[in-house]
Amino acid sequence: MSEPNPCMSCGACCAYFRVSFYWGESSEAPGGFVPKELTEQVHQHLLCMKGTNNYPPRCVALRGEVGTEVSCSIYENRPTPCREFNEYELDGTPNMRCFKLRGVVPPSR
Ligand code: SF4
Ligand code: SF4
Repeated sequence: MSEPNPCMSCGACCAYFRVSFYWGESSEAPGGFVPKELTEQVHQHLLCMKGTNNYPPRCVALRGEVGTEVSCSIYENRPTPCREFNEYELDGTPNMRCFKLRGVVPPSR
């Protein structure tokens, strides 16, 4: 049986980093998909998820309570950095930033 996905109860990365991405991913741009009303401009070609450039950061799209039960309200349309930040990297090695955020020691292989 596979391990449950820790992201369902975690959400730490959605309330820690500034989640920034190329403006072309915004629904304002042709082919873009991230709802523009949930973004704010960082630089000329860079947007971020609203709330993640605040202190303390928390993405406006995050629902629930960090560390208990969370969900992303725009999961299907989340920007690239959210798609690429997972518990494990593509090569199967632990994403150390994820483990550090959670205060969890990665399993040894
Ligand atoms: S990627 Fe890591 S830090 Fe982010 S929600 Fe999942 S378990 Fe938590
Ligand atoms: S868009 Fe979703 S996955 Fe990305 S930071 Fe916000 S709540 Fe987290």
